[in-house]
Order: sequence, then structure tokens, then C-alpha cells
Amino acid sequence: MNGRMPALFVGHGSPMNAITDNEFSEMWRSLGTTLRRPRAILCISAHWETHGVYVTGTSTPETIHDFYGFPKALFDVRYPASGSPELARRTAELLAPQRVRLDGGRGLDHGAWSVLMAMYPAADIPVVQLSIDRAEPGTWHYELARRLKPLRHEGVLILGSGNIVHNLALYDFHDPTPFAWGQRFTEMIKGLLATKDHVRICDWASLGPDAVLSIPSPEHFLPLLYVIAQQNDGDRVQFLADKVIGSMGMTSVLITPNDY
Ligand code: ZN
Repeated sequence: MNGRMPALFVGHGSPMNAITDNEFSEMWRSLGTTLRRPRAILCISAHWETHGVYVTGTSTPETIHDFYGFPKALFDVRYPASGSPELARRTAELLAPQRVRLDGGRGLDHGAWSVLMAMYPAADIPVVQLSIDRAEPGTWHYELARRLKPLRHEGVLILGSGNIVHNLALYDFHDPTPFAWGQRFTEMIKGLLATKDHVRICDWASLGPDAVLSIPSPEHFLPLLYVIAQQNDGDRVQFLADKVIGSMGMTSVLITPNDY
């Protein structure tokens, strides 16, 4: 395939976005029709944390409903995309010498399918997930992710799914008023992305009290590092659905070649 694929970080927010028509699912749908169609998708989701690094190895991943307290309609969702043992093996090969284990039983979590069912409703593009090793710091994830760059030339969409601001303890389903610290932190990250200051983003704990409130635990932020690690000089960085809902930052980040 000629040219490089985009890389995309999506703020996924509530699992309900999977079955709700709103500005977020609308944007995901629109991306699915406007982005170059990938041959396969490698998804890094906030909802697969492991000790060590794993990829999904099955060709028939099940739909994992990894939440509770939501309506039955959400538990009824099935996203029947196939896996790709070939992409799983290629990912492991690229990440060497890091040991990457294939998990043959693991399916797709809602960080992946809640977004993908809007982007690619026909579920006709194979999906592999790469886990997040919870023991490692930001810079480690960023450096590991840089080894995936060749995938952009191989028709693979690297999709990070998390949230730049994610403080569930302070989230109120009935009050979408954004917290000022969440808005400030989003703007800070956007500023650092605009100047490609990835070093400071990887060291978010040093970004002050807004960062501490926005990232009480790193799993929703880390998928962003996997996406920005794909950025080349000259790539275009766009912010989509750039909004904070309560304590949840929904901003998505799209990286495309300049001539895309
Ligand atoms: Zn989540």
C-alpha cells in the first residue's frame, strides 16, 4: 500500500456511547467513512492492562462486556470482527526484543468495540488488541510504541482508545458541566502535542495539579502515547470532538501525513 496510514486516539468515555447517537459516536462514524480504509486495526485500549505485554491471538475474538450497571442493550452488543493472527505475530516481531505473548482466549473489550461499531459497523476489518503493561512508566510505553511505526506503511490503523482526562471518582452521569482543571489539562496537552513536546507528555506527573486530577491512574492516558509515538515530523495533528464532559475529557487526536 502506498503512503502511510493515519494514527488515531479516541476519547471513548462512557460505554453508553456505543449505543447512543451523540456528537462522539457521530464523529467516529464519520471517521470510518473518511479515513483511508485499513487492512487491519491494532487497538491499544485502556481496558486491557496486564503484567507483561500481550496481543490477542485468536481469529475469532469474542465481545467482552467489561462493565456493570448498564442497560441490557449494552450487554447484548456483539462486535463480530475477526482477529488477525498474522498481525498479532507481526506486532510481536516489531516489538522485539520486548517479549510479547499471544493470548488466544482474549476478545475485544469495550474500549475497542464501542468505538469500532460506529467506525466500522460492518465489522469487516480484522482487529488485534495490544495490552498495556501496567508496571511500566510513560516513556517506556512511548519508546515501545515507536517500534510499531512500520505498521503505518502496511495498511494498519493504530487506534488508541482511552481518555486524556479520566477521573471516574468525580464523574456524575447527571451533570456534564466540565471541571475547569480538566479543561486546563486538555489545553495543556493539546499545546504540547502542537509543538510535538512528547517528552513532557510522557512525564505527565510533572505537569502539576491539573494532571494529578485528570490522570488519577494512567490506563486511560497511556493509549494516547501509543498513538503520538507514530507521529513523524511534518505530520498533521487534529483535535476532534474536543470537549470535556464533567471529569471526562473526550478529545480525540488524529495524526495524518501532511499530504493526506
Ligand atoms: Zn474507559
